[in-house]
Parts: sequence; structure tokens; C-alpha cells
Amino acid sequence: MSEVSIEDLTVFAKKKGFVYPSNEIYGGFAGFYDYGPLGVELKNNLKSNWWKTFVQNRDDIFGIDGSIISSKKIWEASGHLTSFADLIVECSKCKNNHRADHLIEDKLAMNVEGLDANALNKLIKDNNIKCPDCKSSLKEIKSFNLMFPVQVGTSKDNIAYLRGETAQLIFSVFKNVVDSSRVKLPFGIAQIGKAFRNEISPRNFLFRTREFEQMEIEYFIRPKEKKCPLLSKRQLQLEFQFLSEQDQVKKRKHKKVKMSSLINKKLLGEWHAYWLAESYLWFIDLGIKEKNLRIREHTKQELSHYSLGTFDIDYNFPFGWKELYGNANRGQYDLKQHMKFSGKSMEIFDEQTKQRLIPKVIEPSFGVDRAFLTFLYDAYESDKKGGNVVLKLNSQIAPIKIAVFPLVNKLDEHALKVYLMLKKDFVCKWDRSGSIGRRYARADEIGIPYTITYDFDSLDDKSVTIRDRDTTKQIRVKIEDLKKVLCKLLKGEKFEKQGKLIK
Ligand code: ATP
Repeated sequence: MSEVSIEDLTVFAKKKGFVYPSNEIYGGFAGFYDYGPLGVELKNNLKSNWWKTFVQNRDDIFGIDGSIISSKKIWEASGHLTSFADLIVECSKCKNNHRADHLIEDKLAMNVEGLDANALNKLIKDNNIKCPDCKSSLKEIKSFNLMFPVQVGTSKDNIAYLRGETAQLIFSVFKNVVDSSRVKLPFGIAQIGKAFRNEISPRNFLFRTREFEQMEIEYFIRPKEKKCPLLSKRQLQLEFQFLSEQDQVKKRKHKKVKMSSLINKKLLGEWHAYWLAESYLWFIDLGIKEKNLRIREHTKQELSHYSLGTFDIDYNFPFGWKELYGNANRGQYDLKQHMKFSGKSMEIFDEQTKQRLIPKVIEPSFGVDRAFLTFLYDAYESDKKGGNVVLKLNSQIAPIKIAVFPLVNKLDEHALKVYLMLKKDFVCKWDRSGSIGRRYARADEIGIPYTITYDFDSLDDKSVTIRDRDTTKQIRVKIEDLKKVLCKLLKGEKFEKQGKLIK
């Protein structure tokens, strides 16, 4: 894990143009952020990699882009208007509201996820917990709904909602996708898009915001289907740190397990295991260090109103192990609810069993901004003095792939030709100011995987030097081969094999 605190990472992200606090010129706006020039590239790379992996590279997943504002009926049916709430506690003097579970967790350093209002009230009383802002006594706990209402049109009575999750748009469009796309079970519908939650205390930079993006798949399977033919050997043998419900009840730490052993012990159904493994491997293959990840089973008391079982992928953030990704078995809950509330059938004809049925659903749910924070944090490395930062982002998601430098300004004209040639195919940066060492450091800091220097020898040998960010090794490559070599490097091929190593 990198040593950087979340505060320092926030400062770094702003200074380098990754992420800024939103509305800053007006004093800021808690829970909202703007992505800067480098941030938008990194975020787009994450989203397009996810879309390619989970939608375009597969035949069984179909993409949609649903509306952000949706009718009250959708959220009544899904249960969000009644159950999508957090518990808050108000100060009797300063009237500030606090999220009750976070307040208790901060004061008592214990996990109270899923405890009800009575239990939390008791903890506050027994431990004499006061308002963190003015130290006065706290009132009784109340429930606070997280959905954002919006007025649509001119009537004050026409209240709709900003979507609290992308999932409900997938369920409400389900029948249209089935009718228009000739789908066959099992299949999934995927969506990337904004979601909004009126979080009581947004905090920890991008971790908990009021406006964020999700990348979600609802994967539909036959209700009785237990076997998952897609489970691969790599997934079954996948080893990871796991915290079961039992371990949490008995206050034990996570331990290493294999995916196959969780299936054998019936802790996980095969389809659920498949999607957990598929998602876990997405993070790993894009460079997240495995020691910083674990899978955690939700305890019975914290399960969401729609879930039959949920497993999160947690990341070891500087503020502790927290959810990066959630994977719920939603059963038939949502489709049945929409069938009941809309009066429209959500049954589909299954060619294999020759029956009409309502599928059950496994939901892999990724947060774009939490993934962004995780990739940024995991990649951040600084030397002991904290002077030189190297952002070791995987080259597939790095915002800028290549930087081109003339060794001295006299060589500008020649180096610029190389830069303009590469710019047609790669996201490139041109940098001609300062010493070469300074330019390497600037490139490392924003995660550019490869830098190219045009020097005096280049005039004769028509070659340039490529430097690898992570090892600082250098190779000499012919300019005419440059594009081909860079393509190979960005695909992850071995650096030393692509040119003559400079000793
Ligand atoms: P938490 O318990 O941290 O509030 P959650 O269990 O409510 O999260 P889900 O409803 O499972 O979250 O949402 C799926 C994913 O969406 C999360 O794993 C996370 O990556 C992202 N997400 C949820 N809420 C937020 C938020 N307020 N800010 C940023 N990302 C979020």
C-alpha cells in the first residue's frame, strides 16, 4: 500500500489536474467533484475498458443508457422510497445532523453496519456519545431517505427522482431489451451512468459523494439454474482474502481461500462465484495489488431489502477496509416488484425449458469514482522524502500514454515530427522545458508509461530512446518501428525485447 493519506492524495489530484472540489470559486459544495484534464482521461479509460470487457467482448451482455430522472413509480416499486435510508441523529443544540452509524464507528472503533435505530440509540446513550461539532447531547435517531426529488414541468406535485442506482433503469427497460434484441437466457444488461444519493456525510474524497457513476450489470438466469458453465479454471482456482459472516460474528480476521472451496462449502452459488471472480480479476488484471483486496460476505442484518446474499470486494483504503464493489443476489425481487406495480408481465419465454418464467438476477455493481480512487491510490508511490512521485498506473488506463522530448531545444523541429506522427494514434504529451531529468519526473508523476527522447544521435541513426516509467530502463528503437513497438508495449509485452537495451 502506498503511504499517502487521503488528504494528501486529494491535494495531489487537484494539483495535477485529476480531480477538483466542485464549485470551489463559491466556497465548494460538499459531496461533489469535477474531473480535470487528466482525470477525465483516466475515468474514460476505466469506463471504456469495462465496457469492452463486459459488453463488447461478450455475446451475452447488452448495453443500455437509461434516463437519469425517472418517475416516482419506479422508486416506489423498487422499495427505494421506503427502504433506501440511513439513520441520522440531530444535535439538540447546534442542530447539525450526523450519520448515526458513522458517528458511533468513529467514537467506538467498532463495526455497527446493519444495526437498527434502537440498537444505535442504546450505544449512543450507554457510551455517552455527544455531538462531534459542539459536544452537546444528541436527540433520538431518525430515518433519512437518500433519494433526490426533482420537480418535473410546472406542477409542484409532479415529483420525480434522480436515480439512486442505475440498476432500476435496467429492470424497467428489461422487457424492451428482451423484445428487441432476441436474447436467450442466461444474459445480462449493462449500463454505465450517473447515480445520486443525498448522503448525510459525504467524505473521504471520491469514496462517498452525492453524485457518482456506476457500472452495473444485471445478469438474468433461470430461477432453478445452479450450474454455471462459464466458470473457468482460473476463476475456480482464484485465491483471495475472504471475510465470511462467521468470521465477522466471531471477530476474526480475513483469511486466504480459493473460490472453489466457497462453492464446495455452499457459501456461494456458482453464478454468484462466477461474477465475483470475473469482477475481482478485472481489478487485478488492471494492476490493483491483491494484498489490498478482499472479498467480504454481508452479515444477515446488513443485507439490503432486495438481497438474498451480498459479497463485496473491499479495498484497504487509508481510512480502513471499505467497499469498492458490491455483488448482490437480487433473486426475482425487482422484476416481480415492477410486474406488481406496473401491471405489465415481466415473464419471458425460455427456449430451453419451454416455459414462461421470471429470471433471477445476479448483480455485479462497480462504482466508477471509487474505482478511480482505488486505481489512483494503489498506483501512487513516492520515495521516502516524498519528493518524487511515480504513478504506476497500468498503461491501459493511464491518461497519457507517451511523452516526447527533444534532448535540447535545437532538436525541437525533428522531435516535433515524431510527436505529431505518434499523436495520430496515441494520447501523447510534448514537453521541451527543463532538464531531461525534470521532464522524466513530471511524466512519472502523472503516470505516463513511456517517454521518448530525440537526441543528437537520432539525426544519424534515425532512432530514439524509449524509457520505461516503472523500471527506468531504456531501449533504442528505429523511428520507423516506433508505432509498432509502442503498440506492443501498451499491450503489456516485455520492454527489453522491443529494442536494443541501453546499458
Ligand atoms: P456504502 O455501503 O458504502 O454506502 P452501498 O452498499 O450503498 O455503499 P451499493 O448500493 O452497493 O453501495 O452501490 C454499488 C457501488 O456504487 C458501490 O460499491 C460503490 O462503488 C458505488 N457507490 C455507492 N454509493 C456511493 C457514493 N455515495 N459515492 C461513491 N460511490 C458510491
